[in-house]
Amino acid sequence: MQTQPRTWLSELPSSSGPEGSPSDTIAHLERDLAAVIDALALLGVKRCSRCKQFFSCSDPGALFDCGQLVCFGCIKAWWTAYSGQINVSDRDEVERKLSSWLRKYHHAEVRKEAPDKQLDTTNFDIVTTCGECRGSGKLLEGQRCRFCNGLGTVWIVVPA
Ligand SMILES: [Zn+2]
Ligand SMILES: [Zn+2]
Repeated sequence: MQTQPRTWLSELPSSSGPEGSPSDTIAHLERDLAAVIDALALLGVKRCSRCKQFFSCSDPGALFDCGQLVCFGCIKAWWTAYSGQINVSDRDEVERKLSSWLRKYHHAEVRKEAPDKQLDTTNFDIVTTCGECRGSGKLLEGQRCRFCNGLGTVWIVVPA
């Protein structure tokens, strides 16, 4: 008697039954999830765009908002990637927002000199335009700006 190796194939359940295909179910779940996230936003809970964790909006230090929401835990990796994607004027603006957010909520310090990366690899720092001389390196009287040593830029260092 000859075997019929193809017979079992016809016994497999059909992929498009009356319940809908798996991709329909996933689309449905995604719609539900989006609705839940909208509802959470109404309740003051928002989500980090990177790690997808939820945070309460009542803590202004939890998420940095510059169009995208980024939590403090993700800020270093996010800024490293994001700062390379935007143009200089956008970067200036986000940098200014980010440095004031870091100073206000995360005890960041302003330094005149570059932090020693070899000693300190865990710190997060960004270079930003000096707010005192607006990047010119000079004060109104023509003196060298003492806040940035005349460089026009300062380092915002967030302690680890
Ligand atoms: Zn995050
Ligand atoms: Zn300055």
